[in-house]
Amino acid sequence: MTQVSLVTGDGIGPEIAEATRRCVDATGAGIEWDIVEAGVDVMAREGTPLPEATLDSIRRNGVALKAPITTPVGTGFRSINVHLRQEFHLYACVRPCKSYRGVRSRYTDIDLVVVRENTEDLYAGIEFEKGAPETHELIDWLNGHSKRPIGPNTGISIKPISVEGTERIVRFAFEYARKMDRRKVTSVHKANIMKFSDGLWLEVSRQVAKDYPDIEFEDRIVDNMCMQLVQKPELYDVIVLPNLYGDILSDLCAGLVGGLGVAPGANIGDGMAIFEATHGSAPKYAGQNKVNPTALILSGVLMLRYIGKIAEADRLENAVAAVIAEGKDVTYDMKPDRNDPTAVGTREMADAIIRRIKSA
Ligand code: NAD
Repeated sequence: MTQVSLVTGDGIGPEIAEATRRCVDATGAGIEWDIVEAGVDVMAREGTPLPEATLDSIRRNGVALKAPITTPVGTGFRSINVHLRQEFHLYACVRPCKSYRGVRSRYTDIDLVVVRENTEDLYAGIEFEKGAPETHELIDWLNGHSKRPIGPNTGISIKPISVEGTERIVRFAFEYARKMDRRKVTSVHKANIMKFSDGLWLEVSRQVAKDYPDIEFEDRIVDNMCMQLVQKPELYDVIVLPNLYGDILSDLCAGLVGGLGVAPGANIGDGMAIFEATHGSAPKYAGQNKVNPTALILSGVLMLRYIGKIAEADRLENAVAAVIAEGKDVTYDMKPDRNDPTAVGTREMADAIIRRIKSA
């Protein structure tokens, strides 16, 4: 038995976590679930949205499947998702974007993987507020060292990109490409403008690429990449990006394949991985047995591959694809008309996937 932490989350989290657990179990993967809580519901009881027992479970098992969690507003707690990424040094965010027949989208046959650096860049949280004394100090220093003056009424966000951080994520992208039989890695940047941050990223990307002669390498400037992805997405395979561009382009790529309902993801570090849907906790639908469980189930497919249960992962992915392609036992958001009375609930869509697994 493989132990996996199942973080049930809040909002729609518990119902899609349950649907996913049942589907994964139906593959015969033999997962022993360690069911733990995080989010606003547990906060009301225990005074923290992220209990120590939940962190301990993830630390112990090294692998977690996590349902969405609401970011509490105005409570002094920062985003639980950011906390988890930092706590476990999950430096790579992996978002496969694949077309499934039956999902409404402008494109077919897309099969891309976005690998986003999770720890550096403008997301490092190094910011200086307009008017603060330390901001004035920084502006004075910068004005003494740069030919481009910055006015006093300026807020500043810092964009650190290191050799170590870049090497780690680009190497991760190449290793992933190798393991998953992918043919090409594209490194994305704006090195023509930000020479010392994105320029470093590009230089390190090129260096790392030399260690992987079996995999094609190319780079793209981020604005051109956006246009290319809309015009010729079939040209791309694994795309590796710094944090901010990665955030934006992973949503763009999710849009190419039909949106949030079908977008799985993973946050991965050295020996630790948390698998989760791209979407959030959609609180307005909580407890209604209404929302689409597909994104979390596909995250379960990624989890199964990660722990080496390849046949089980294929079985689950094929069953999900078959149910979506048939278009009968799917949730409202996958029907051509969102008010279609034949749409089924979360539980019933999972039931249909389980029937497919059993009959395959
Ligand atoms: P959201 O993704 O929760 O919902 C946006 C809309 O997308 C919903 O109203 C719904 O119409 C649709 N949607 C989302 N998931 C769906 C599903 N499975 N099936 C059908 N429709 C679905 O985004 P939001 O409203 O901006 O965020 C709600 C909360 O979730 C916030 O507190 C946010 O911080 C949090 N969040 C958490 C995560 C995470 O846990 N990884 C990710 C994103 C947002």
